[in-house]
Amino acid sequence: MSQKNQSKYDQLKQIKDEIVALKESPLYEYRTKNRYKPVIGQGSHDAKIIFIGEAPGKNEAETGVPFCGAAGRVLDELLASINLERKEVYITNILKDRPPNNRDPSPQEIELYSPFLNRQIEIIQPKVIATLGRFSMEFIMNEYGLESEIAKISLLHGKTFQTDADFGQLQFVPLFHPAVALYNNSQRKTLEEDFQVLSAIITLI
Ligand code: URA
Repeated sequence: MSQKNQSKYDQLKQIKDEIVALKESPLYEYRTKNRYKPVIGQGSHDAKIIFIGEAPGKNEAETGVPFCGAAGRVLDELLASINLERKEVYITNILKDRPPNNRDPSPQEIELYSPFLNRQIEIIQPKVIATLGRFSMEFIMNEYGLESEIAKISLLHGKTFQTDADFGQLQFVPLFHPAVALYNNSQRKTLEEDFQVLSAIITLI
């Protein structure tokens, strides 16, 4: 069956199956040795908004659920602050496997895993992409023709960018990673304000 005629569920399941079997990944051995799971994504297949983080941490790799640790609790509170629940949005990461000791994703890892993210976006066809942290921000800006506007996340967070995807118009909002709010109250306030920007966009779509 062509990808177009498969249901969203089947297409996303296909992505999961491919990642489970991704032996060429430099993170595959680390995953299997530690009995970790790949973390594919969670939420509505018809979500209007996709949140994209960096990579699974330990809690996520143990459960297969994105953002289920401390940073995830912050994300849940931020979603609740704009009356959203996880089941209404889609949450995923660029990397689908945990890098050892939560180190930054390498360019090779981003290259290997990002086609899966691109396929997830094409399948779900969101109206809004919100990135969490600088890695996903830079990836999405490069991917969606916003490369000339790339700057430090401290300058871009909470701004709205309009762009086009194959499936229609897309709004892009870069956000700080919720982990920054864990030990810094002023960063948490900033995230709360930036979520209000998201809320205003969502009421218009
Ligand atoms: N940090 C991320 O970027 N993603 C997760 O899923 C958890 C923590």
